[in-house]
Amino acid sequence: MTDPTAPAPTAPIVVRTPEELARVRSGLGRTALVPTMGALHNGHRTLFAAARGRADAVVVSIFVNPLQFGPDEDYDRYPRRLDADLAVCAEEGVDVVYAPAVETMYPGEQIVTVHPGAMGSVLEGASRPGFFEGVLTVVAKLFHMVRPDLAVFGQKDAQQLAVVRRMVRDLGMGVTIAGVPTRRDPDGLASSSRNAYLSAEERASALALSRALLAGADASVTGPVGILSAARAVLDEAARAEPPVRLDYLALVDAQTFAEVPASFRGDAVLLVAAFVGTTRLIDNVPLTL
Ligand code: AMP
Repeated sequence: MTDPTAPAPTAPIVVRTPEELARVRSGLGRTALVPTMGALHNGHRTLFAAARGRADAVVVSIFVNPLQFGPDEDYDRYPRRLDADLAVCAEEGVDVVYAPAVETMYPGEQIVTVHPGAMGSVLEGASRPGFFEGVLTVVAKLFHMVRPDLAVFGQKDAQQLAVVRRMVRDLGMGVTIAGVPTRRDPDGLASSSRNAYLSAEERASALALSRALLAGADASVTGPVGILSAARAVLDEAARAEPPVRLDYLALVDAQTFAEVPASFRGDAVLLVAAFVGTTRLIDNVPLTL
């Protein structure tokens, strides 16, 4: 709820082209970039607040990136609501919104792309071929256009965060990457633009994802085998619910490499789940120290 006694928020400057952006950027000082695809929710708000706490100015990009969607995915129906997004950005004290058209980001065929390597070919990369190549290519372009000192990403997309960190390191991009913990709705579902696709019944079934991760985390003293079987028990039951949860993957990976961990693993890990409820694909994860 918006506080009625709060001062009216200042609207961000909206720019549409790299040239407009460059003119604004020169006056900004230490700048944080938060890349988004819009349809902004509370998860994005936590990123904007984190960015504001770490920089003089916050730039939010809003761009539904066609390069990261597969041919059978939801590019066409992905929610687009720029006016509502600008109101959220104003409330969160965002200074600049960069909302380029597709033709501005990709004026011709994108022949040169950024390849994520092995870390980008497992899990999300295996289920969504070309996804991380699309993500890294657009993030690299945004970094060149915005020239941020730091960029803020959500742990919600844990593999994306890890792959972006690796790109910055391997290509010497000189941008500090900050990760922000996953924001959840009061019922436990990780906030996501795609939650808007869910019916009330689908949403109830979808709660099994966060419940499975919680069950896994609760079993963390038992080690990888116990963690996975505790999480799987919840998902097996959800597969029999109505509407059912159709599991894509459940995995426990090394937080640095995203390789699945052996039974003897000790260190920082991430328990990840991806599943369909109806036609909506959802992902969630929880970091664990074993
Ligand atoms: P998107 O607009 O879905 O591409 O997400 C833009 C950024 O917001 C990414 O860095 C996401 O990881 C992050 N994000 C999305 N949902 C959440 C969430 N529930 N909590 C924290 N960060 C999130």
